Amino acid sequence: MTHMLVLMALFCLSCATAHPPVYTPAIAERQVPSNTYLRGFQQASDLFPRTLIQDRCSDKQKETLRTAWKGAKKLAEAQTSTVTGYDYDAVHRAWFGDDWNVKGDPEVERRTQIITDNMARLTKLFRGEVGDHDNFVFWCEDKYGNCEGEAWAASFEHTLEHGALYQSTVFCPEFFEEEDVLEEDVEMFGGHPDDETRIDHFQDTTAVTMLHEIYHYQFVVSDNPTLDIAEYGAGFDYQLAREKGTEETYLNANSYAMDALVIYLQQTFQSSTPALPPGY
Ligand SMILES: [Zn+2]
Repeated sequence: MTHMLVLMALFCLSCATAHPPVYTPAIAERQVPSNTYLRGFQQASDLFPRTLIQDRCSDKQKETLRTAWKGAKKLAEAQTSTVTGYDYDAVHRAWFGDDWNVKGDPEVERRTQIITDNMARLTKLFRGEVGDHDNFVFWCEDKYGNCEGEAWAASFEHTLEHGALYQSTVFCPEFFEEEDVLEEDVEMFGGHPDDETRIDHFQDTTAVTMLHEIYHYQFVVSDNPTLDIAEYGAGFDYQLAREKGTEETYLNANSYAMDALVIYLQQTFQSSTPALPPGY
């Protein structure tokens, strides 16, 4: 599956995809953006502070988004928790590379620190600590053509003249139609040790996609613009970590999502070994 990242040109240094077109704010500075640009959205008070959901989302879709968000929160909490005795480094090495947290090389140390900082910002975000200018927008309408191909979701950002940052994610029809609910997969595969450690059973879930997209939220979560470097799927991310290490994984949104998923699964199932892609 292709998760498309679309960055607005204002902060775009190396965009693989170049749409939607640059957003040019056409409103005066003191106007409230949601009254103009964001007409047709409602505040969702139970998600991040200042999250808007598009009115066009059906009730069922809104419910799916809430379930996905709650699942993503669990993944984020697992990833940044501090369970005594749990070997977080082993999982981070699996998904970010064997050079994760290796001391002595300033570049490697810098990338390890960036990953750590990104996770810390994710934790703050799910705690509801957001900056005064940060807003979040969940779309069901594919206004900018981001859902073409096989995308499940895509994220982009708009910065308005007065500094308000709108982190948007469009959730594509495939997201609603094709993806599983993480908790249902956990229920289904739980109790079967061989299945509990197969990441492919759990990766195509709305919670994982939600977390993946949130790891694209620049400034709020990722200091650098994260990309989709590996082809979508745990096997490709695992391979990226083996071949490129932190040099590329620190910029790959799905490396973060897979890392979180594996920690969550291992802690949930109390597995002796972390989940891996098939064939490993
Ligand atoms: Zn992506």
